[in-house]
Amino acid sequence: MVGNENEVQLGDFIKGRLLFVEDYCKKNGLDHAKVMEKIRAEAVRLSGSPERAEIMEKKFLSGPVLSSSFLPYWVDRVFLEAMTLAIKGPGAPLFTRSSRTPCLTFEAGRFNAQRQAEGIFKLLFDRRTPEDWLKSSFVTINRKCYGDSFADKFVVEEVGPKRFRVSMDNTGMEKATPMDCSTEMGYLCGALEKLGAKDPVITHDRCNAVPGALSKVCVFEIGWS
Ligand SMILES: [Zn+2]
Repeated sequence: MVGNENEVQLGDFIKGRLLFVEDYCKKNGLDHAKVMEKIRAEAVRLSGSPERAEIMEKKFLSGPVLSSSFLPYWVDRVFLEAMTLAIKGPGAPLFTRSSRTPCLTFEAGRFNAQRQAEGIFKLLFDRRTPEDWLKSSFVTINRKCYGDSFADKFVVEEVGPKRFRVSMDNTGMEKATPMDCSTEMGYLCGALEKLGAKDPVITHDRCNAVPGALSKVCVFEIGWS
């Protein structure tokens, strides 16, 4: 569902980020209000301009985010970095290459998959095996959130029993960053766990969602036992 080339229906994902922070604070004995204050300060600082800081404040940090809200991509990028800085401190990893070493952005994606499986995308999880979900539902979810041009270039290969390879072409995708790839890895992991896959492992050895990369294709290796 693409609003225009810069804004997409990220509302439910963003809502999921806020719920993730709340859940994380509860599980780790952190003061949620204080953490949100820190995130707010970092987010405004990282926005990069007074106009963007105002959008961040108005559309996201104050008041509820509706699932149908249309938000620019950079809002999520700024939020993920602000969240990591506020909770883990400066120098904490913003992304990972393997689900064996999860970082906070990975955990945010994992949380979102598990909640969307019970919510907005319930029909895409119901009665699906991990294999079904990877072959069709995962592409549909990306189509709904990032549009046809992104989803049409999605390649899902079954490379063996309980082994898959997903390639996504990020050409022209403003959302693409190593942080975004980590949330995708977390999302894959959370979804597979939800569908009963045992000990899923997701690896992404080389991230091409970086400036100057010749190919913008990012490949994820997926397996479970
Ligand atoms: Zn990547």
